[in-house]
Amino acid sequence: MHLNFIALAVPLFLLFMALEYRYALKKNRPVFHWRESIANLNVGIAERLCDLLTSGSFFFVFLWLHRHYAWLDIQPTVLTWILLFLVTDLVWYWYHRFGHVVNLFWSAHVVHHQSEDFNYTVSARITVFQSVLRGLFWSVLPLIGFPPHMITLLLLIHGAYPFFTHTQLIGKLGWLEYVLVTPSHHRVHHSSNPEYLDKNYGDVLIIWDKLFGTFKAEDQTPVYGLTQPLNSHSFLWQHFHFFMELCIAVKRAPGLLHKIKLLFGKPDTVDASIRPVLERKFQRKKKPTAPSAPLLKAISVQTAFTLAILFFTILFSYYLQPLQLLIAAVFIFLSVIATGAMLEQKQWVFPLEYIRLLLLCLFLCVTVPNKYVWLCSTSLLLVLLLYYQSLKSRYYALYPAS
Ligand SMILES: [Zn+2]
Ligand SMILES: [Zn+2]
Repeated sequence: MHLNFIALAVPLFLLFMALEYRYALKKNRPVFHWRESIANLNVGIAERLCDLLTSGSFFFVFLWLHRHYAWLDIQPTVLTWILLFLVTDLVWYWYHRFGHVVNLFWSAHVVHHQSEDFNYTVSARITVFQSVLRGLFWSVLPLIGFPPHMITLLLLIHGAYPFFTHTQLIGKLGWLEYVLVTPSHHRVHHSSNPEYLDKNYGDVLIIWDKLFGTFKAEDQTPVYGLTQPLNSHSFLWQHFHFFMELCIAVKRAPGLLHKIKLLFGKPDTVDASIRPVLERKFQRKKKPTAPSAPLLKAISVQTAFTLAILFFTILFSYYLQPLQLLIAAVFIFLSVIATGAMLEQKQWVFPLEYIRLLLLCLFLCVTVPNKYVWLCSTSLLLVLLLYYQSLKSRYYALYPAS
């Protein structure tokens, strides 16, 4: 059986999150907040799905670049593995630094910094756009001459390390603080304290920050999140708010030169007053109320279900037909959007739910093309639709339009 074992990253990282949660409870450290954690996990679900669709394609891009444009003919030896690790970490440093100081790139990276929590779930906040952007930066590696199979293996290890730097429960780590990016260094990076802004961009090694003058040690309590907090857990808003702000700022800028300057300028060049205008248009007037116990349960169950679908989609990806993969991908994307809408108590969540049910039914019919399966799934769909109709009236009564 040909399984895609990358899927195991999903339960493995969930296990570490659960362990951190239990340890935080034991130590009486309130580092987890339900809304934040659910929103973080849902961003991560979309990224893992997108990674499944993009990482394979990038392997072929690396192969093509290496075959036609490689500068050197590098063979795998101990020395070249070390060299590849160093170059990868250096490329990451600049990819990350550009992600903070260039508006166009910040519109993708901003999502990683929206959470006001700092725990392992925050490491999942990597956007769909970032997985594409990251691939473009990694293209330097085959151009230098590193073989694609070396790059792919190293990126797997390199990509796993930053998960462990997203925690408040590990203090300073002695001499390792001089060499590695530790949780302490990364706490600084995620903080909005003025002294901590645009610091500690490194991924595995902290030496690049020391070399390029962006290092800051953790010497005061960090305040996590953006300097202008988002106050929303909507998946769509989190992904597109800065992109829309940038579009409006560019539209308002006089002349082509000013527009280009804005696209490649720093985030503080975008007028901060644009956000409230967009919020009035797209966000609730009143803040969401505390969710009722059934809504809370529904959101948690939905997130767990989406995680399970993601896990099986990745695990059996080699066996899925393009149509099955397409249905599963659309289902997962609609699920994370619906969860964000429920967290924000939006009214338009029910049409999404109906489409999701329809997709589930469609997947069953495509996978098992049998008239009895078709009959059973259609009947189940009708029962569920009736059930959703009763839920809808209760939901609208509890969470009226603002
Ligand atoms: Zn960052
Ligand atoms: Zn981070």
